[in-house]
Amino acid sequence: MTDVPETDSALPEYTFPHLDAAELSALSPETLAVAAGRPERGHDTPVNPSVVFSSTFVGLGSVGDGARGYARFSNPTWEPFEEAVARLEGAEIPALLFSSGMAAVAAALSLVPVGGVLVAPAHAYSGTLGLAQAKGVRGELGLRSVDIADTDATVAALDGADVLWVESPTNPMMEVADLPALTAAAHAAGAVVVVDNTFSTPLGQQPLAVGADVVVHSATKYLAGHSDVLLGLAVTADDELRARLLGHRTLHGAIAGPMEAWLGLRGLRTLALRVERSQATAAELARRLEGHPAVRRTRYPGLVSDPGHERAAAQFDGFGSIISIELDGAAEADALVAGLALWLPATSLGGVESTIERRRRHIAEPTTVPEGLVRLSVGIENVDDLWADLAQGLDSLV
Ligand SMILES: *Cc1c(COP(=O)(O)O)cnc(C)c1O
Repeated sequence: MTDVPETDSALPEYTFPHLDAAELSALSPETLAVAAGRPERGHDTPVNPSVVFSSTFVGLGSVGDGARGYARFSNPTWEPFEEAVARLEGAEIPALLFSSGMAAVAAALSLVPVGGVLVAPAHAYSGTLGLAQAKGVRGELGLRSVDIADTDATVAALDGADVLWVESPTNPMMEVADLPALTAAAHAAGAVVVVDNTFSTPLGQQPLAVGADVVVHSATKYLAGHSDVLLGLAVTADDELRARLLGHRTLHGAIAGPMEAWLGLRGLRTLALRVERSQATAAELARRLEGHPAVRRTRYPGLVSDPGHERAAAQFDGFGSIISIELDGAAEADALVAGLALWLPATSLGGVESTIERRRRHIAEPTTVPEGLVRLSVGIENVDDLWADLAQGLDSLV
C-alpha cells in the first residue's frame, strides 16, 4: 500500500555494543535519553552523529531493499533521534521523525480509513481537532467528540470506531483519561489507539506499554526542549502500522530538515534533567496558585484536589510541568499575561523558558475552554523568581 522503498525497520544494534538485549531493556529512561542514538564506537570516531546535508544518495543498486535512494525516503541524521525516542517509548522498531508535531498527527489521522469513525477528546490540541473537523466536513471521516475523562461515555462511543485518539492530560484542560481501560475497550471494538504523549513525555508515561498502538509527539515541545525547532514523531511497535505511517511521510513529504533533527537529539540528551526540575517547580507553583484569591481554579493533576489526581498518580511517573488556571474572565487573564516580566507571553510549551498564554486568544480553541483560562508551561528557572513574577501579576487583580 505504501508505494515507497522498503527500509530496514529494525532498531540498529550498534549503539550499545557492550550490552545484550536484557541489559539494554534494564536501562532507565534517563540513561537511554543520553546513551541511545550514538555513532558506532571506534578509535577517534565522533561521539555525536553527523549532520548529513544531501538531497540524494549515490545509487549503484536497486532502491527498495534498504537503500536510501533519496532524502525524502530517509536521512542518516534522522535515525539516531528516531532510535532514541523509540527506545524511550519502549518500541523495538525505530520511530518516524516528521517536520512538525502536526505532520505526525496528520500521518496518524490517516489511519482512519475513508468513511471511518474517529473518537477524539472534545478538548485536545487545537490543530489536531481542526484537522479532524476539516476531514469530517469533507466527509472523509465521522468525528465523535467525547469527554475523555469520562470512561463510560468514551467506551460507549467506541462502537464501530476505527481510531481512538487520546490526549492525557488534555491540552489545555488537563483532563486525565483511564488509558488502560480505554485501550482495552478500543481494541475490543476493533479500533486502533493513538496517544498524543507530548505533555507527559516518555518519562511520564509509556502508552505502548499499556497497549496503545501509536504514540505521537510534538517534539517541538519537551523532547527538543529549547523552543528553537519544530519537529514531530510517531512511534509504534507494529511493523504494518509503521509502514503505513512511513508511506504517509514519504508521499506527503513532511520530512524534517537534517539540522532540526540534529537539534532535536541534542535537546533530548537533557530531557530527564529538564523534566525533573520543571515538574518539581510546577508542583510548588500549583500549590501556591491554588491558594491565591485571584485564581478561581487550578488545573494540575498533581494537586490532590484535582479530579484527575488519582488516575494520574496511578498512571504517570510525575505530574508534568503544565498548569492551567482559571481567572474571572478574559480581561483578567489578558492583564495577567501582559503584566509579567519573566514569564514569556507566548504560545507553545515544553521549553527551558516558562511561557504563559490565555488559550482562548486563539479563535480555533474550543469554546468550552473558559475565556479566563491561562495555560502555564513551567520551565527550569528558579521557583521563587517565577512565583514572585506571577504573584505580583495576580495580586494586582484582587
Ligand atoms: C504543539 C502540539 C502539537 C502540534 O505540534 P507542532 O510541533 O506545533 O506541529 C500537537 N499536540 C500537542 C499536545 C501539542 O501541544
